[in-house]
Amino acid sequence: MTGEAVAEIEAEEGGPDYGRLQWRIAAGFVLGLVAGILAYTFARDAAWVETLVTYVTNPLGQIFLRLLFMLVIPLLVSALVVGIADMGEVRALKKVGLRTLLYTIIVSSIAVAISIAITNLIKPGAGVDPAEARALLAQGGEGARSIIERSGEAKTGVDAVIGIIPSNFITAMGDNDILAVMFFALFFGIGLLLMSSPRTEVLKQAFEGVFEVSMKLIGLVIQLAPIAVFCFMFNLAAQFGWDLLAKLAAFVAVVLLALGLQMFGVFPILLAFFARMNPITFFKETREASLMAFSTASSNATLPTALRVAETRLKLPPRVSRFVLTIGATANQNGTAMFEGVTVLFLAQFFGVDLSLTDQIFVMVICILAGIGTAGVPGGSLPVIALILGGVGVPPEGIGLILGVDRFLDMCRTVLNVIGDLVCATVISAYSKDVLGDAGAVPAPSL
Ligand code: ASP
Repeated sequence: MTGEAVAEIEAEEGGPDYGRLQWRIAAGFVLGLVAGILAYTFARDAAWVETLVTYVTNPLGQIFLRLLFMLVIPLLVSALVVGIADMGEVRALKKVGLRTLLYTIIVSSIAVAISIAITNLIKPGAGVDPAEARALLAQGGEGARSIIERSGEAKTGVDAVIGIIPSNFITAMGDNDILAVMFFALFFGIGLLLMSSPRTEVLKQAFEGVFEVSMKLIGLVIQLAPIAVFCFMFNLAAQFGWDLLAKLAAFVAVVLLALGLQMFGVFPILLAFFARMNPITFFKETREASLMAFSTASSNATLPTALRVAETRLKLPPRVSRFVLTIGATANQNGTAMFEGVTVLFLAQFFGVDLSLTDQIFVMVICILAGIGTAGVPGGSLPVIALILGGVGVPPEGIGLILGVDRFLDMCRTVLNVIGDLVCATVISAYSKDVLGDAGAVPAPSL
């Protein structure tokens, strides 16, 4: 996708209106929570609460979720196809491209493994009364159930690996088989990258169009979030009471711990060993990019600042840093991948859904791939989380819990996304002296 396209979407999704929307979502969250806790305290098991949940708050929440789910496949497929096909613009940097890809996969895997290990260890969502959780699962209604239904039966071992390749991608979409759909999109993107003709250029633009329309529609649906969040919080608080707040606090703490480990554990090691750079100097020099990422909660909006920091502060060769940062703003999102991992596992614990090893590996792979498919805009990971939840049989209503604290966590994970890109650019630069010696011109990325 071109930089302008991102900027336009960014301006719409991440503009001042988004800030106001965040306040409305926060208000919906607090009001729903208070109303739910009041109902839990003073009218537990009252018939009118049940009627309200069955006929008002639950259906409203379902409508919001279904609108969101409806848009996820077009959004994800177009983002992946275009993300891969865009690499064609920088074909001259093939070596750097391959190294960046390898780095992204390895470091994202480490990030996701850390987040999954920590969530399994601390279990921030565990301890909810299993009977209550089951009731909530049942109450999810037809809409949620149809989304939850996993394609076919759960596959294991060799079948699970073979199953990633869809024999029919339309069926894969119909079955909500997200991994298979992602595989198809990646494969199609590679095809588009290899075949360049006037017609494939038109096709690529069409995918960009699908992405832009999907983003626009998600922007419209998100306007309903304050009402939906009120409903979700009311339903959950009326059922779980104060327990809910404690679980939520534990969730926020675990996300921050996971992000902190990557930021102050993994990144310094990468910098010191692979780029021979003092991590403290690195963090000092990249402060401006961190601040920008924190305040905008958008990797795309921070891209110009990150590019400047890379060139003027870190003194990285522009040819490498431009390439790595432009691709990385969409494809290398460590913070997002970690957040998605913690969130899915937390909600599974909360709703008492036992995730087998195969399920957890499924979550890991999707989180790593989702790093490529998640747009670098505020709240970009929410639709992806909704989809993963459906894939592992966790009630998508859980999204309501997350939305309430999402803005703050979004600001934090975006810092990790951007700093992760700068670490990547620093490491790749250190290993690209051979490429930098080449005289071949490298096209500047379109911003
Ligand atoms: N806000 C993140 C970013 O722009 C994406 C997300 O995780 O929601 O990097």
